[in-house]
Amino acid sequence: GAGLAGRSALVTGAASGIGRAVAAGLAAAGAGVVLADLDGDRCEAAAKEIEAAGHPGRVAAAVADVTDPEAWARLTRTARRCFGYPTLLVNNAGVLGGHGLAGVTADEWDRVVDVSQRGTWLGMQTVVPFMHLAGGGAIVNVSSVFGQIGSGAAFAYHGAKGAVAAMTRAAAVELAAAGIRVNAVSPGLVETPMTVGLPEQFVADFVAATPMGRMAVPREIAAAVLFLLSDDASFVTGTDLLVDGGYAAK
Ligand code: NAD
Repeated sequence: GAGLAGRSALVTGAASGIGRAVAAGLAAAGAGVVLADLDGDRCEAAAKEIEAAGHPGRVAAAVADVTDPEAWARLTRTARRCFGYPTLLVNNAGVLGGHGLAGVTADEWDRVVDVSQRGTWLGMQTVVPFMHLAGGGAIVNVSSVFGQIGSGAAFAYHGAKGAVAAMTRAAAVELAAAGIRVNAVSPGLVETPMTVGLPEQFVADFVAATPMGRMAVPREIAAAVLFLLSDDASFVTGTDLLVDGGYAAK
């Protein structure tokens, strides 16, 4: 992760799974990281565990609902106070709905779309002004292979994640001249708390349809996020990087 040391980073959904692995990777690369999550206790615990690992980068935990503009204002204040103007942003918070088109309720639609789409929009809109002040930055939005291909499950999630990928491209074009790169990462199935409750048959079928024949671990998604945040990706913007063991290539 070239160029990450000493930077101020914000990661949402950082109490768990992929977000937690991204926060740990950023701290290992020497960045100061604000871990933000709806679940304050688990977020605090994740930050303590990362701190205990003795990484060069310091961490702070903050309770925040990414769908709430005031929470974003508080988050950026925390980042500025702890580590300076945030120049790295990872919009990772997301929730999964379990219904196909026929079964989606308005509540499920609102919840799934609000966290991924509205949360990612608000995150970028709130943090980008500080990237302008700092002279540049990098954003990674976590989409999904379900943003690129269809399935009979999780219709609202497909809609939300496709929107995340589209907003990533739009923001990349708008912000390129300001030295702000915006990319997405699209995981296949990953071993996290989000997927432990999935029906066994769904997981078995997904793994069988994955050329590499297994699920990912969070560290493998975090590595792609860290690459896109780093100076190693200095000419990469507006892309959507699949980390799916070949699932979408079939
Ligand atoms: P996870 O459930 O382990 O972690 C998600 C975290 O987001 C949780 O800690 C949760 O409290 C937090 N969160 C939920 N709503 C929030 C809100 N409104 N504000 C702030 N935080 C909120 O899930 P994960 O598997 O680590 O997923 C991380 C991201 O990766 C999500 O966007 C998910 O859609 C995406 N993704 C996951 C998989 C997978 O197979 N696990 C696959 C593709 C994409």
